[in-house]
This record gives sequence, structure tokens and C-alpha cells, in this order.
Amino acid sequence: MNIVLFGPPGAGKGTQAKILQDKRGLPQLSTGDMLRAAVKAASPLGKKVDAILTKGDLVPDDIVIDIIAERYDQPDCAKGAVFDGFPRTIPQAQALDAMLAKRKKKIDVVLELKVDDKVLLQRVEQRIKEGGILRSDDTPETLARRLKVYYDNTAPLLDYYGKQGKVVTIDGMAPINDVTKAIAAALDAKAR
Ligand code: AMP
Repeated sequence: MNIVLFGPPGAGKGTQAKILQDKRGLPQLSTGDMLRAAVKAASPLGKKVDAILTKGDLVPDDIVIDIIAERYDQPDCAKGAVFDGFPRTIPQAQALDAMLAKRKKKIDVVLELKVDDKVLLQRVEQRIKEGGILRSDDTPETLARRLKVYYDNTAPLLDYYGKQGKVVTIDGMAPINDVTKAIAAALDAKAR
């Protein structure tokens, strides 16, 4: 099964992707994690994207499309994957559909984690209170930028996937356990 976890920054996509990875053996494919690893390793890719991540802007489509295709061809993705933070633009979604079609696969479901902006801001503030700033883009100021980028570029994907009948909306403001249960119920319903 190929799953897209969809939602604004801080909605809990990474948390739920990790749970799906543990419970269903579907690898978490997080472009954000991959890009941060490249920055940390100071690779040529990392040097190219570092400032973009810190600002909260999107890295160019061709870069993320390439890293996703390369990662998806690893053997652990044979039964599918959980796409976390990808796609983020219409061209990325089109490229993903084309990449999967070439491999006789498809996106089975798009799980939209719905969370109010106010709650996203509270979550950032809480993380900083608990652990300080651990990510250069995890600040209230950059969240505002990331949210604008989300609404401008990424939110339109709901319509793209909605037309394909693939979107299931989940209340992302519920406790983590309840979100996990709602996702499990949605996936079990799809599998039937
Ligand atoms: P994330 O961890 O998913 O919030 O991603 C962190 C940052 O990485 C984003 O703010 C972007 O700068 C970059 N990024 C991650 N995924 C993508 C993507 N699919 N397209 C463009 N930029 C991305």
C-alpha cells in the first residue's frame, strides 16, 4: 500500500509515519528527513538546500522528485511506502503518479491530518519550551512562512487527490493515540 500523509507543518505526519512504519512495515519516506540528513552531512545537495530549509521555502521540485524516486526503488519499498512531506506541489504529485505508474503501482490513499493554525503555533512554542530550538526552521517566525508556503503550494493537492477520490480526513488535533486509531480504521476500510 502506498500512503500519502498530508497536512500542514507540525500536523503530526512524522509521528504517524513512524507508527505506520513500525506497525505495517511500510517505510517512512520523509523528504524533510532526507534533506536534513544531506545538510548535516554537508554534501553538495545539503549545501544547496541548507538556506532554503532554514527560511521555510520549498526546495526545487526536481531535487525532491529525484531523491524520492531513488529511495522508492530500494527493496524495502516493494510492498509500498508512507510518503511524509512529499508531494508538496502539483508538479511533485504528478511526478509521483507517473513514477508509480511506471512501476505498476499507485497511491492508494491520502490521509489528511487536519490541524488549526493556532494549534500548530502552540505546538512549536511547546517544543521550544521543552527542548529549545532543535531545527533551524522550528520557530514561530519560520512557521508563519512555512504555513504560507503550505497554503499557497501544497493545500491545492487536496483538490488534486480529491478528484481521484483518495482523500480521507483525520482530526489531527485529537490525542496521538486517537489519531493512530483513526488512521488504522481508514486503512483497514481501504484494504477491504
Ligand atoms: P518537513 O520536515 O517535511 O517539514 O520539511 C522541512 C523542509 O524541507 C521544508 O520546509 C522544505 O524546505 C524542505 N522540503 C521537504 N519536503 C519537501 C518537498 N516535498 N518539496 C520541497 N521542499 C521540501
